[in-house]
Amino acid sequence: MIQKLLIANRGEIAVRIIRACREMGIKTVAVYSKADEESLHTLLADEAICIGPGPSKDSYLNMEQILSAAVVMQADAVHPGFGFLSENSRFARMCGQCHIKFVGPDPEVISRMGNKAEARKTMTEAGIPVVPGSREPATEWQAGKEEADRIGYPVIVKAALGGGGKGMRIVRVPEDFESQFHMAQRETESAFGDSSMYVEKYIENPRHVEFQILADEHGNVVHLGERDCSIQRRHQKLIEEAPCCAISEELRQRMGETAVRAAKAAGYENAGTIEFLLDREGNFYFIEMNTRIQVEHGITEAVTGIDLIKEQLRIASGLPLSVRQEDIRIHGHAIECRINAEDPERNFMPCPGVITNLHFPGGNGVRIDSAVYNGYQVPPYYDSMILKLIVCASDREAAVRKMRSALGELVIEGIHTNLDFQYEILCSRDYEEGNIDTSFIESHFAAGAGQAGRL
Ligand code: ADP
Repeated sequence: MIQKLLIANRGEIAVRIIRACREMGIKTVAVYSKADEESLHTLLADEAICIGPGPSKDSYLNMEQILSAAVVMQADAVHPGFGFLSENSRFARMCGQCHIKFVGPDPEVISRMGNKAEARKTMTEAGIPVVPGSREPATEWQAGKEEADRIGYPVIVKAALGGGGKGMRIVRVPEDFESQFHMAQRETESAFGDSSMYVEKYIENPRHVEFQILADEHGNVVHLGERDCSIQRRHQKLIEEAPCCAISEELRQRMGETAVRAAKAAGYENAGTIEFLLDREGNFYFIEMNTRIQVEHGITEAVTGIDLIKEQLRIASGLPLSVRQEDIRIHGHAIECRINAEDPERNFMPCPGVITNLHFPGGNGVRIDSAVYNGYQVPPYYDSMILKLIVCASDREAAVRKMRSALGELVIEGIHTNLDFQYEILCSRDYEEGNIDTSFIESHFAAGAGQAGRL
């Protein structure tokens, strides 16, 4: 079993991992930047070590520094959390070279699944349905356009190494292809330092439905049901729920079995997510695999009762999964709202600053995963998500009511947040009735155009 774990991350996910370790009797080492000296993860871990100045590239993305910390602190494993180095195959490989267990899949699997074009190829070969798309990635717009003309419009141009919804453009007519390709490519170059793009069919108003899987080194692979992550702004998730209210038990089984097959085809180990788009006719298509723990893992924990971080640590220790597929049952309905330090009135601009007053909701079925506290200074360097509010109730209607009540009770003062925006979504008739797809925010709020006001 892992004895001492270094957490190569910060914020709420670092705190979440520290808590799981404490329950399992695993010692923890936090790494922190100069801007995070007073952060909760720094204060809660058994030991903490500074790895550099505030900007991520000098600290949480500094592989050499983090690995030196792991060696000096004698950690035998590293948990990367999400974001930062979690999907960096070079980092995973370097951990192995230092005889430190990386809590995640093999570096080869990370790099194959991290490249969307490669991932599609693997899935197509395994007979998994994928969105019709380019055979090869393109760096020149002409090559991309040839593919688009073949596939048929509308299409979506994506960054091959993309993530976080960056470097993506929808093209509805051939005349717009060149300009949209260049825009997506420019964004891709600045975000990922790479210019390879690929083109796929744009599915109109789908739901984003993803399956959580767990795989151990003994060949056991299970799925823990699905999450509906259709409420997105600019292709980034805002609200997630489990289960998805639009799929039948038969479709759930079929999609779940497909997800397990996909994980096996990838040669996967540890926790991962298979993302699908589901169209109105009930067709589903693989879009990508995330080879790490997801932000929204808590809703799956709420409806299955399985602690995903503990499972990750068990798997990384070489133990078999603690559950079999036939033991996994979905109970009730869970919803998560991501609370971000950003200003919906100013195009959701990040709003770091000092939290002057804080009150958390509580009660049966309410969970908060956060690293903020009263007087905490939200640093300007990192992702703006500061809190995840998760509720779980007997059914969807009860969960929606519980979320409204919990959002109404949550107080965060001193900084702007998207709390009221979330509340408005929860109160909309279509949300309440489960009429949601990935165009929901655009079609219900002027937010698509920049403002938060209702259309
Ligand atoms: P990222 O890795 O940047 O998160 P994804 O490939 O996971 O990118 O896609 C993010 C979101 O973009 C999806 O949830 C969906 O809303 C939208 N999207 C991606 N591909 C398509 C497509 N082919 N058709 C329609 N929407 C898409």
